[in-house]
Amino acid sequence: MARFAGGIHPAGCKQYSRGCAIGRMPPVREVWVPLSQHIGAPALPAVQAGERVLRGQLIGRAAEGLSANVFSPVAGTVQGIVTHISPAGKKKEHIHILNDFSDEHVALAPLCDRTRESVLGRIAEAGIVGMGGAGFPTAAKLNVRGRADILLVNAAECEPYITCDDRLLCEHAEQVLRGARLACIACGASRLLIGVEKNKPEAIAALAPLCAAGEEVKPLRTRYPQGAEKQLIYGCTGRVVPEGKLPADVGVLVVNVHTAYAIWAAVEQNEPCYERVMTISGGAVDRPANLWVKNGTRLREIAEFCGGHEECGRIVCGGPMMGEAVFSLKICTAKTTSALLFLSEKEADAQESSVCIGCGKCVQACPMGLSPVFIEEALLAKKYGEAKRFGAASCIGCGCCTYVCPAGRRLAQSVTLAKKIIRERGV
Ligand code: SF4
Ligand code: SF4
Repeated sequence: MARFAGGIHPAGCKQYSRGCAIGRMPPVREVWVPLSQHIGAPALPAVQAGERVLRGQLIGRAAEGLSANVFSPVAGTVQGIVTHISPAGKKKEHIHILNDFSDEHVALAPLCDRTRESVLGRIAEAGIVGMGGAGFPTAAKLNVRGRADILLVNAAECEPYITCDDRLLCEHAEQVLRGARLACIACGASRLLIGVEKNKPEAIAALAPLCAAGEEVKPLRTRYPQGAEKQLIYGCTGRVVPEGKLPADVGVLVVNVHTAYAIWAAVEQNEPCYERVMTISGGAVDRPANLWVKNGTRLREIAEFCGGHEECGRIVCGGPMMGEAVFSLKICTAKTTSALLFLSEKEADAQESSVCIGCGKCVQACPMGLSPVFIEEALLAKKYGEAKRFGAASCIGCGCCTYVCPAGRRLAQSVTLAKKIIRERGV
């Protein structure tokens, strides 16, 4: 197994929810379903205020170019197309639906064959996007016309606290594997690898006996960010994705565990993507859980169901390393919302920022071989060309530099900002 340079070994904190079998969030009275749950253009509303919808009905049609369909997670009546706060804190269009609790349901039409075109078409039709957090429309990712020989399932789940992928594998390994095989058909890959950190022995034991010829589970060392795309590809295949290139350029495509499960559901169960398993965890939640949650559910209702304390150190959507701090529990879940964390004051541990002491730890920890301290200096001096020369554009936002800095400098935020400025201004 190839080992990537840098990285860190934070406390996993998976003990809160690792043993929690997947349950289901009780039905909620209202949902606000985001029309933008993916990278690319927001979906266009396919329903109007006053219209009755069924669970599984198309309510947002993918726009031209890169986009994804959106489906109703409940049966009920559309109240309107409204602006609502997105997890990133921005106002975005959502479809507000009042649940009538009838749970009337409509499925996609069964697929009559499993050709590459049919499977790709179904993945697009079902609105499947990268559910590990990226939200890239999966059909567009898999449509590489034979350029990839390996389909790699990202089951590393290296972010602390999060256990939803682990639970999906423990309880639904067969379905995840079948979904991954369908992804192989869609992209033309002849080999299927599943990269799992060694700290998930139950998932490895569930998967390994199911693998056929050309399929293999790759146990990986437990080190953050093992699940970052380039690091995962290197760890599982030894292939290096050069700077500025994509995984497909080295013959690999990566899909997340939940994405593979969603492909299985879309092709074999005719179910589009309108709900997902989320981890609810942290030291400030009374009942940690892994739950099926409908897209468009307000965080407040999840907090109430699980006993999440609003007055805690920090609330985070996603993992503590790469997730977004939550400023309002009115925010609603999306296809990419893998976790909701209620961190205690001790867990949040927001250290005051002080001057750099030149220890070099951020440089050692960066898995992309960057010098975060110099990029931050360049950013503060508004020398964006210099930030670019130090490689800011290659930052994967993993947060390792911030984690190790004894001076408490928010290096990852600075490097991410430098990357954004470089991109936007064409530096
Ligand atoms: S500079 Fe970017 S890639 Fe490097 S450690 Fe910091 S956040 Fe991660
Ligand atoms: S880790 Fe922090 S203190 Fe050490 S060199 Fe980097 S910025 Fe400076």
